[in-house]
Amino acid sequence: MNNLISCPHKLYSPFRNCSSRILKQALTSVILLLIGSFLSGCTTIAPDTSSSCKLFDVPPELTSDALRDSAISLFSPALKGKKFYIDPGHGGDDRKNKSPNGLVIEADINLKVSLYLRDFLLKSGATVYMSRDKDKTVELKERTNLANQTDAEFFISVHHNAPGKPSDRFTNYASTYYHATEEEYEHHPSNRDLARYINRDLAFNTGTPAGLASFDGTISDYLIYPGDGFSVLRNINIPAVLVECTFFTNLNEEQRLADTMYNMTEAWGIYKGIGKYFRANPPTISLKNKTIKKGNLQLKLEINSKQPVLLHTIKIFNNKTLLSDGKFSLDKNILTVDLDDAFKRETEVKVIFSNKAGLSNLPFKLLLTPEVN
Ligand SMILES: [Zn+2]
Repeated sequence: MNNLISCPHKLYSPFRNCSSRILKQALTSVILLLIGSFLSGCTTIAPDTSSSCKLFDVPPELTSDALRDSAISLFSPALKGKKFYIDPGHGGDDRKNKSPNGLVIEADINLKVSLYLRDFLLKSGATVYMSRDKDKTVELKERTNLANQTDAEFFISVHHNAPGKPSDRFTNYASTYYHATEEEYEHHPSNRDLARYINRDLAFNTGTPAGLASFDGTISDYLIYPGDGFSVLRNINIPAVLVECTFFTNLNEEQRLADTMYNMTEAWGIYKGIGKYFRANPPTISLKNKTIKKGNLQLKLEINSKQPVLLHTIKIFNNKTLLSDGKFSLDKNILTVDLDDAFKRETEVKVIFSNKAGLSNLPFKLLLTPEVN
């Protein structure tokens, strides 16, 4: 563990080197303390002389096994039994993304962060599948094919970022992608909720700002590939996000990424985001029953939500067409949906809503096959 890296002066351009920067800071602190003491005549706060170009702070929970395990025990009840599929991006034949000074290769740091994340989730009682747990080639299509063949419930792809302009050494932020945009049928808002939780804790734990493309650092993959999105998010059948932890192209970040303690810190941020999301209880929907009466197919859907459902957010799709408000009603936790003669044809029903806590339901899709009345 080495999180104190000696004064890389090029990282802090406002001052030519760290020692002069620290000297100026120390001098300023002493002057301020003297003024403060003179004015108040009482308590003073001793300056922290230990700080010297520290590239990152280790989260307090990771400073001892006991503290880490205690933090994990807080998330275990919400994560126990959940099944995750972690996808460390690139690897094998695909190792071309290198940091400017060659300190790290994206494929390797993706794997390191993913393995730490796997360990945190396993310790919480979750099941974890991985597209790779070593340096090997896994084609893009194969990643989602493999995941779709498991009983995994949530898909997390782990990457590190690079800017559009190759000479850009300044850009560095944390961002988390979800599939499609609100206007698209393919979009599901709960993916964005999960992305929000992950990105917030990732940014906080690594001390990296959230990306500016949105206010919370979450980004639709349609921003990168309009109408298409990322392959892994487009072809997966379960809730999914893709995390672009930080930029391996940034000179400061490159040094942090070369420190395994920092990779663990990144994983910790992602883990805490996941843990907090499930502790917040994302609402779910299940089918209670379906009946056909007088040529009308009626569904009774049971809503499981700790917070009241916001009526105006309910959207029900019948074969991708939005049902009008008159076709459904909510009584306590039962959502009644009238689908007219939908029993005569293959029908896909999709329901989304948000609750008062601002959380959307986990995806609910029901496939109905034609029935005889
Ligand atoms: Zn990548």
